[in-house]
Amino acid sequence: MTTVSTLPEVVTVRAPAKVNLELRVGPRRPDGYHGLATVFQAVSLHDEVSVWRSDDWEVVAAGHDADLVPAAPDNIAVRAARLVAERGRVDEALTIRIDKEIPVAGGMAGGSADAAATLLACDQLWGLALDRAELAELAAELGSDVPFPLTGGNLMGSGRGEQLTPVLARGTFHWVFAVSGTGLSTPAVYAEIDRLREQWMDGPVPEPRVSSRIMAALRSGDAQALGSALGNDLQEAAFALRPALRDLCEAGIDFGALGAIVSGSGPTVAFLTASHEAALDLSVSLSAAALCHDIRRAKGPVPGAHVVPAPRTPASNVHS
Ligand code: ATP
Repeated sequence: MTTVSTLPEVVTVRAPAKVNLELRVGPRRPDGYHGLATVFQAVSLHDEVSVWRSDDWEVVAAGHDADLVPAAPDNIAVRAARLVAERGRVDEALTIRIDKEIPVAGGMAGGSADAAATLLACDQLWGLALDRAELAELAAELGSDVPFPLTGGNLMGSGRGEQLTPVLARGTFHWVFAVSGTGLSTPAVYAEIDRLREQWMDGPVPEPRVSSRIMAALRSGDAQALGSALGNDLQEAAFALRPALRDLCEAGIDFGALGAIVSGSGPTVAFLTASHEAALDLSVSLSAAALCHDIRRAKGPVPGAHVVPAPRTPASNVHS
């Protein structure tokens, strides 16, 4: 008996957003990058990427902020698909549909999640059976934040953030994300931290290191301890460029959050709360204070990119 394997017509993959529980930034390196030590947590805000064959490369975006998602060929999802095509010696163009839930340019690595989802989706569509290590290698070529959403959970990142190691953790954490205005440019925030450090620091910038407090808090699953251990070296730079973020952090703490942190290079602020109910209460208070333009709740950690069993079809409506 012969087995005929048919390739799928459409594949849909879900990938999560991230929050950096701790982000330590080292000195600027000769190649222009900064060495990082960070702890990522994947949270339950997801983008879904669907791919199918078509005559030309095309990106169709739907959902939150769909109008801010770049078209092909600038979209990072197209770069991801072309990389897989090159690796698998495939000569086909695709339509890539992105259903967005992750804020665009919010410091939650939405573009990186889309890239990770696209790598996995293309691998399945073309039946290449690349293993996780090969996908991770392609992910690192696309950007420092792309390998993490492939795996998800809680991971420590070093190098530019792309070298990942497991973190011992237990428990589920409840987050409120306050999205504050349009994106702060990541290069501008790094340039500002360099400028501030020149003013403040006498000696050289130390090599970045994750604290033992954050590791202990994750090991014990203690939300209170995690809230007080959150830390981000880019936060002062984000505050300098957007002072309203400081007020937002302080307001969230006054309203009962266990901890507040600018997510990555901002401008989203992440608040850790004690429970699902506490997250609901905080959302209501922040909303009433009108300090941000959008509020999302999520829990973490969640798994990384995975294939959705019932794919969206090319005929599914695009709601924006
Ligand atoms: P980073 O911190 O990596 O710069 P971010 O997490 O703040 O990113 P993203 O949503 O990844 O925010 O968007 C960063 C920029 O990447 C956007 O300004 C957008 O122009 C570009 N971009 C390219 N592809 C995508 C995509 N699929 N989704 C969102 N933005 C994308």
